[in-house]
Amino acid sequence: MKYTFITLIMLVCTTIQAQDIYLQCGKLIDTKSGKVLAEKTIVVSGNKILKIEDGYVAGKKDDTTIDLKDKTVIPGLIDMHVHIESESNPKAYLERYTNNEADVAFKSVGFAKTSLMAGFTTVRDLGGSGVNIALKKAIAQGKIDGPRVFTAGKSLATTGGHADPTNGSRKDIMGDPGPKDGVVNSVEDAKKAVRQRYKNGADLIKITATGGVLSVAKSGSNPQFTIEEIKAICKTAKDYGFHVAAHAHGDEGMQRAILGGVKTIEHGTLMSEKTMDLMKQYDAYLVPTITAGKEVTEKAAIDGYYPAIIVPKALEIGPKIQNTFKKAYDRGVGIAFGTDAGVFQHGQNGKEFGYMVEAGMPAMAAIQSATITNAKILNMENQLGQITAGFLADIVAVNDDPTQKINTMENVVFVMKDGKVYKQ
Ligand SMILES: [Zn+2]
Repeated sequence: MKYTFITLIMLVCTTIQAQDIYLQCGKLIDTKSGKVLAEKTIVVSGNKILKIEDGYVAGKKDDTTIDLKDKTVIPGLIDMHVHIESESNPKAYLERYTNNEADVAFKSVGFAKTSLMAGFTTVRDLGGSGVNIALKKAIAQGKIDGPRVFTAGKSLATTGGHADPTNGSRKDIMGDPGPKDGVVNSVEDAKKAVRQRYKNGADLIKITATGGVLSVAKSGSNPQFTIEEIKAICKTAKDYGFHVAAHAHGDEGMQRAILGGVKTIEHGTLMSEKTMDLMKQYDAYLVPTITAGKEVTEKAAIDGYYPAIIVPKALEIGPKIQNTFKKAYDRGVGIAFGTDAGVFQHGQNGKEFGYMVEAGMPAMAAIQSATITNAKILNMENQLGQITAGFLADIVAVNDDPTQKINTMENVVFVMKDGKVYKQ
C-alpha cells in the first residue's frame, strides 16, 4: 500500500513536470548592459526563464530545442501606446454610430493577435470603450491570443475635450456625459472618474490634457483640464496604484500635466525646451508615437478619409512629431517606446524603431526604451524587459541584428509569451 502510494506520487510528479524549452540563440540582446551577446542558450521552464547558458546547449529527450542560431533574440517588446479595440479606416467615424459593443469586441480579437505576432508581448492600451478591459481578461485567461494588456479603459476628458465620447454628435444624442463615461469638469468629478475606472477594472489612467487630431473638435492643442483637476486625478490614481498617462500636443496643457503629476506625455508635439526640462525634473517620460504622426499626415491627404475638421489639424501636428522626439531625446528627456497603433494598422508597431533611429537615437537605446524603460513604468521591471533568469519568458527573434539593420524590427519571426511559443 505504502509503495503504491509513493509510486503514484512519483508518477504524478513526472507527469506534471513540464518539459523545458531550449532556445539556441545566434545573437542575444542584453538590454541591461546594452550589449549584443553571441551563441547563448536560453532555458525556459514553465512561464519563466530558468537560466542562460554559454554556447549551444540541447535539452534532454523530453525537452524542446529550438534553433535560433541565425536569428537575433530580444526580450518581448512593449508598446506603451496602443488602442487595441480599434483601427483607423475611412468609415471609422460612422462606425461609432453603427457598431455595437460585440462588433468592437470581435474586431479587437484580431487586433490583439496581430500585435502579439508582431513581437509586442505587452501593450499599454490608452483608451477605448471598455471592451479593452474584457479583452485584457480574455487574453490573461488564455481564451484568445494577444499581448499582456495594461489598460486605461475609457480615457478621461473634459466636456468637448479630446476624449468626450459624444463630440460631433447631434444634440439629442449628445447628452451630457459625466465621470462614469470619462468626462470630468471639477475636482470632485476627477476623483469619481478615477474611482469608476478602478471599479471597472482598469490598470492605469489616461487623460487628454489637450485637444487632439482625430476628435471632431476645432483645436488640436488647447489645454483642456485645470491643473487642480489634473492634480486630483493623479493623487486619486495613486491611491489605487495607477500611474497617469497624458495625451498632449500643446505646451501649456503639457506643463499642467507634468506639474499635476502624470508619468508619461503622449505625442508631446509642441513641447518647448522649458517643458522638456520640466519632464526631466519630474521624472516624466515622452511616448513619441512618430508612426501615428506620419500616418495621419499621409491619410489627411486622401480626400474624405477624415472628417473635414480633422484635416488641418492632422497636417499641422502630424509632421512635427518626429522632430520633437529628436529635440527631447537630445535634451535628455526619458523616452518610452510607444506608437499609437490603432491610429494606423495594428502589427506595424515595429516601424517606430526605424523612425527613432532616423531621428538620431541609437538602435540599442530604442530597443532598451521598448523593453527595460517600459517595464519600469509598468512596475514590471523585475519580470519584463530583460532575458534574465527568473523573468517571465517573453522572448522574440528577428532575422538580422537590429543594431546593424533596424528595419528588421518590422519583421519579427519568433514569438514566445509566458513560455508559450506563438510564432516560429
Ligand atoms: Zn492614442
